Amino acid sequence: MHYGTFSTSSNPLPRLGARVGDRVLDLQAAQVDGRRAAPDTLLELIQQGPEAWKFASEVALAEVRLKPSATIAPDEVRWHAPIPRPLKNVFCVGRNYAAHARESAAAFKGDATLPEIPVFFSKATTAVTGPFDEVLRHAAVTSQVDWEAELGVVIGRAGRNIAAGDALAHVFGYTVINDVTARDLQQRHAQWFKGKSLDGSCPMGPVIVTADEFGDPQNKRITLRLNGVTKQDARTSDMIFSVATIIEWLSKGLTLEPGDIIATGTPEGVGMGRSPQEWLQDGDIVETEIEGIGTMRNVVRNA
Ligand code: MG
Repeated sequence: MHYGTFSTSSNPLPRLGARVGDRVLDLQAAQVDGRRAAPDTLLELIQQGPEAWKFASEVALAEVRLKPSATIAPDEVRWHAPIPRPLKNVFCVGRNYAAHARESAAAFKGDATLPEIPVFFSKATTAVTGPFDEVLRHAAVTSQVDWEAELGVVIGRAGRNIAAGDALAHVFGYTVINDVTARDLQQRHAQWFKGKSLDGSCPMGPVIVTADEFGDPQNKRITLRLNGVTKQDARTSDMIFSVATIIEWLSKGLTLEPGDIIATGTPEGVGMGRSPQEWLQDGDIVETEIEGIGTMRNVVRNA
């Protein structure tokens, strides 16, 4: 199932939707049947647990089949980030693809040794923005805004000290994230947090594809195009630490909760690794795509 947060011009309130084929269903409206409290938001649905997920998917499939007139055409829909304001910072993994770890080390004149355990950092919740929203360049505070296409993992079942073998059963679904980064701030402040957390620097979406439908997270193509030119093109099989291994390390002594989001690292081809280096400019169009989920399209704007 594909779940997201959408609004329409006639009802601008962001709300829970399901994408079935090329139609969009207002799940809040569809689930009013008295059998259970219909979730208002995707985060609420995730928090309600597996029984609610099953019910929501049954409702969505039945509704689309029986009442197609109640569905909405995709061109009438505005997608927001699936979880517009996560409960906590977005967990992130750095240097998780070997070729990117090397290009990053070369650009930062740092250690090119590949990590033996995952490098974790986070992005502020206020960085999260929609899959088709503008990305602000914050020209007054940074001149080196870069892109990072990443597979996003959304936790569905809580857990601590989760073994890698059990980890994927804790995943609700997967989404697309662009870990937009102010490289000069990332370096200047030593700790990465500031350079990773400017407002609007975490486009996410367009939907979350549930784990059962997405399948193996280590066998997906991940691409990023800038103004139509492919800059990143890799497979998630190239990750140094798999999604399951990331969850195992991150959950050691740290409870992961429903709705938590993990950005799993970016492959080779970011702007800082190029010669000459490339930084996002006003008017640039960034398309970030993962096989099986969809494509985000963000226009960069000076601000
Ligand atoms: Mg990243």
